[in-house]
Amino acid sequence: MLNLSLMLTDSARRLPGKAAVIEGERSMTYREVDEAANRVARLLLDKGLRPGDRVALTCPNVLEFPAVYFGILKAGAVVVPLNTMLKRGEVAYHLRDSGARAYFCLIGSPDDEAWRGFEDSASCAFLFVIDSPGATVPPGLPTLTEALRGRPADDVLVPTEATDTAVVLYTSGTTGRPKGAQLSHANVVMNALATHPLFEARQDDVYLVPLPLFHSFGQTVQLNAGFAVGSTLVLMPRFGGRTALELMAEHHVTFFAGVPTMYWALLASAGSDDPASGLAATLRVAVSGGAALSVDTLSQFREVFGLGIREGYGLSETSPTVAFNRLDRPSKPGSIGLPVWGVEVKLIAPDWSEVAAGQPGEIAVRGHNVMKGYLGRPEATAEVLRDGWFRTGDIATRDEEGYYFIVDRAKDLIVRGGFNVYPREVEEALMTHPSVSLAAVVGVPDERVGEEVKAYVIRQPGSTVSELELIAWCRERLAVYKCPRLVEFRETLPVNATGKILKRELR
Ligand code: AMP
Repeated sequence: MLNLSLMLTDSARRLPGKAAVIEGERSMTYREVDEAANRVARLLLDKGLRPGDRVALTCPNVLEFPAVYFGILKAGAVVVPLNTMLKRGEVAYHLRDSGARAYFCLIGSPDDEAWRGFEDSASCAFLFVIDSPGATVPPGLPTLTEALRGRPADDVLVPTEATDTAVVLYTSGTTGRPKGAQLSHANVVMNALATHPLFEARQDDVYLVPLPLFHSFGQTVQLNAGFAVGSTLVLMPRFGGRTALELMAEHHVTFFAGVPTMYWALLASAGSDDPASGLAATLRVAVSGGAALSVDTLSQFREVFGLGIREGYGLSETSPTVAFNRLDRPSKPGSIGLPVWGVEVKLIAPDWSEVAAGQPGEIAVRGHNVMKGYLGRPEATAEVLRDGWFRTGDIATRDEEGYYFIVDRAKDLIVRGGFNVYPREVEEALMTHPSVSLAAVVGVPDERVGEEVKAYVIRQPGSTVSELELIAWCRERLAVYKCPRLVEFRETLPVNATGKILKRELR
């Protein structure tokens, strides 16, 4: 028997009165979250849900998220967390594709019609509207508060096996429509526990959590790992650099995990001579993942906040953590660190054979963290899983000490006139320019060379640096075929709900 909800119940027994989650003015202790989760489980069991049934959840980082998430697990059901930015048709697709039987949904505003995807999904019999303060409750729809009223709060746990599916995480993947990566109880429990020694987790840690809990990074590294040790999570329903710094000071935050654009926003909110950098005085661990952290952002962060950022790497399909720059080993700038406990990594060619030592290759992963497969998609699963190895689509190199360095995502590779250009290398060169605040490089179709290198740049405030100056800057540092021919200046860049830059949209 293994169930992911043990991450909560064990801490609720040890630390019943301790604050588990804080969101704005509201908070819940471990006992309160556990009792609410028991009520959610009772609700689902009373509605006739069976072990293994899928239950979808659309919810930003609000106080109710953990109770609903662990309640679904306690009922022996499978959580299907959905991105809060989905539109009606997409919600319907995810509910149908996962065969969800029930749907918990927070409706952000009166004109948010995404929940109506429920009406287009025949298999889904129950909708519960999460009525947290500020959320919209359309008249006539059942609310979570009503649904839980009068239900007993005593322990409930429908036994599950370690290999049973606990969570289905939808991931954009490289092709086609989003696919549901099935993660077992063991996948997520092991991965969450394997992260503790990496950053020397402590019970008295206070996490700031802007990463969406519906995504693997927020879910495993923050919610599950944090709950397992009994830390306090300060949830941010919406990320803002300045607000994050203020929350760090208010709650004496010790642990921050974010994607690189969040670090960039923290730096933008705290110039080097601004006392704002002092707001993060209690921070002891800063973790970056989800996308490449530029070496320039890393060194600026150290300068302003006096703390290095530890970079890690993972994917939805690997629960997510594969590699990390652990605290007890030197951190290497630009590297994703060493494979985590129990996880093997090798670099492969398109035919799955291992590349020669020193050569770049596609990262393949084997271990306790690798998903069971994509829900209902045997062909897509067979493409990425072979003999226990999962191929990630990310190209990397390994140094003599075993540290991995991501070169780029295979699908982001630009082939310009037959030469391979890895956008990351060009972005790193641009980011070292003092007038560049953020850069994203993509390939755009070109009749002459097939694909042309184009950079989208956010300038530093007040800077007037020109397209030609930036091209000349790159020419001094990069082979000519890698240099952008086109530079477009923007005020903002499109990011997804996690904060990753959406290269697809830029293309
Ligand atoms: P997701 O499944 O949404 O978590 O996305 C996983 C993808 O994020 C990976 O396949 C990588 O392309 C990217 N990624 C995650 N961590 C890093 C990192 N440290 N450096 C570069 N790319 C990363």
